[in-house]
Amino acid sequence: MSQHINVLDMAREQLAVAANLLELDKGLHDVLAQPMRQMIVHFPVVLDNGEVQVFEGYRVQHNASRGPTKGGIRYHPDVDLSETSALAMWMTWKCAVVNIPYGGAKGSVKVDTKQLTKRELEKLTRRYVTEISTMIGERSDIPAPDIGTNAQVMAWVMDTVSMQKGYTVPGCVTGKPIELGGSEGRTEATGRGVVVTMEEAAKVMNMDLGKAKVIVQGFGNVGSTAAKLAEESGATVVGVSDAVGGIYNPNGLPVHDLFYRYSGRDGGIREYKDAEQVTNAEILELPCDVLIPAAIAAQLTKENATKVKAKLIVEGANGPTTPEADHILSDKGVLVVPDILANAGGVVVSYFEWVQDLQNFFWEENEVNNKLTRIMRHSFAAVEAGMRAHKTDMRTAALIIGVKRVADATIRRGIFP
Ligand code: GLU
Repeated sequence: MSQHINVLDMAREQLAVAANLLELDKGLHDVLAQPMRQMIVHFPVVLDNGEVQVFEGYRVQHNASRGPTKGGIRYHPDVDLSETSALAMWMTWKCAVVNIPYGGAKGSVKVDTKQLTKRELEKLTRRYVTEISTMIGERSDIPAPDIGTNAQVMAWVMDTVSMQKGYTVPGCVTGKPIELGGSEGRTEATGRGVVVTMEEAAKVMNMDLGKAKVIVQGFGNVGSTAAKLAEESGATVVGVSDAVGGIYNPNGLPVHDLFYRYSGRDGGIREYKDAEQVTNAEILELPCDVLIPAAIAAQLTKENATKVKAKLIVEGANGPTTPEADHILSDKGVLVVPDILANAGGVVVSYFEWVQDLQNFFWEENEVNNKLTRIMRHSFAAVEAGMRAHKTDMRTAALIIGVKRVADATIRRGIFP
């Protein structure tokens, strides 16, 4: 589905709505609509069988007016420069909404990691990082995990940058393993933030989560953690899906079991048999109270938004809802907690990791989780208040806060020279 929808157009349309409401000057709007820096790299990797394969990768920095740029590295066969730029722009607003001192960036490599051995993945990572080395660094642009990458990949990023510098630079990347300067709580942080915002939204809607049925599309790091924590918070998870497809049982699914016993298997969670098998498209339309899209962009569109049964949508993925779908959902009275707020927990704890690395002083998991929860609740409350004040939807309210902070920083700094 996402192939037919240009997510950069989507991101620009969202920006335009906020820019109009903020009455931003046209020149400033033009600055924010473009990424400040884009790099395309083509680089060779010698595969285990001796053949050379050339890969295409990108790093995009959208805006650095509030600080160094920050954003994940995605390994996926469908990435391109335009999508990576949209994701970088969303990172800028996300960091501004939760008020952490970063601009937005994103990197990606067009690759299906399932086709590579671990050694090939390591070589691809080290070469990609070397190609984009003029852009990244602990004071300039700090990568992190995203779809297709994990703590091991971040360890290789850190080691590659460190080898080139001649000394260890833990702060050049976040989402690292704990023993290399990673932060407690980082792996779960995005899913944890999703569930904190779900709880805050439920309070506003007078929804009893103890009686709520939740569906999660995507069972990667974000989706699986959100499903586990939603279950722990008392909700019943009735549907989940991974890249292979989904399962649904209106009486509830054993999320921890699915994670620990099924998610690593070839057939994925569909190997669990006490449930109906559904597709990734069907799962979005099944009966539930809360829908958490935590897979990829452009999943809720004008074609399926009318069929959504959930009263609350919490966006674990980046860009899962198109602007047309936003209108339909808003008219139906569905509350959408937007990605730039709902999934900001990951970059918030990335910020904590970076601060800990720069200080060489590490925090306990409770401290990380408590600080994360406080920021998520505070940001949710500010966005919710904005939504009421501007009589608009939650995405627009979040964008108004995020875009305004970036615009104000740009105005304060002035245009160089
Ligand atoms: N890739 C994550 C995101 O989209 C995390 C980025 C980060 O921690 O820098 O928010």
